[in-house]
Amino acid sequence: MIEMGAGFGHIDENLRIIREKISETADKYRSPDDKIRIMAVTKTVPPEAVNHAVELGIDLLGENRVQEYQSKKDDYDKSAEVHFIGHLQTNKVKHIISSVSMIQSIDSLKLAQETDRLAAKNGLVMDVLCEVNIGGEESKSGTAPDELGTLLKEIASLENLRLRGLMTIPPPSDSDVFLGRMQELYNKYAGEYGFDTLSMGMTHDYVQAIRYGSNIVRIGTGLFGARDYSK
Ligand SMILES: *Cc1c(COP(=O)(O)O)cnc(C)c1O
Repeated sequence: MIEMGAGFGHIDENLRIIREKISETADKYRSPDDKIRIMAVTKTVPPEAVNHAVELGIDLLGENRVQEYQSKKDDYDKSAEVHFIGHLQTNKVKHIISSVSMIQSIDSLKLAQETDRLAAKNGLVMDVLCEVNIGGEESKSGTAPDELGTLLKEIASLENLRLRGLMTIPPPSDSDVFLGRMQELYNKYAGEYGFDTLSMGMTHDYVQAIRYGSNIVRIGTGLFGARDYSK
């Protein structure tokens, strides 16, 4: 990974490497018509750098924080689609409902209901993924795997949500075990709900995630360089 320096040249080189690794892995483990999207995760990244990635062909951005997104979104190149991927408080849904095309981090009935209500109010149907806390980690959001079936049924009954699949952030160690469990969960429910999206894999594990069926890899540092939280 090339770190941030003057200019955005490091993004070109990082993206070239990411694309190469994805296509190598997909050639080996996936069927030729599987589509795998690269999401550029933008937290702490200035809009100019984000827009440079869009110029290089990135067509999907991932936003973690409501406030940061609100302060940056007017400066984004509008040609890329935006998904919300961070922990979302119920009272913040109103700030993003009309400017993102998917919320990947639905993890409770309460959040699903509020998203449904606001989608209806805005005359839209929101695409959603259900976030699963596959490693059962206290520090992470997401629904517990054994409560997933119930939550999916509830989400599917809400008229202004379109349930597309699952998202997860597996524990950094034993990533393979958890990625495999996510693939099993995805396959278990995919037919019943017509899933088409499994969002998993970040800078450290996107190559493995592709082996386990991911079709959106969410990459931040591997694309833009180390995050600077001091700004
Ligand atoms: C930050 C973040 C990523 C990207 O992480 P990197 O390790 O920087 O690639 C992906 N998904 C979510 C939900 C994140 O918060």
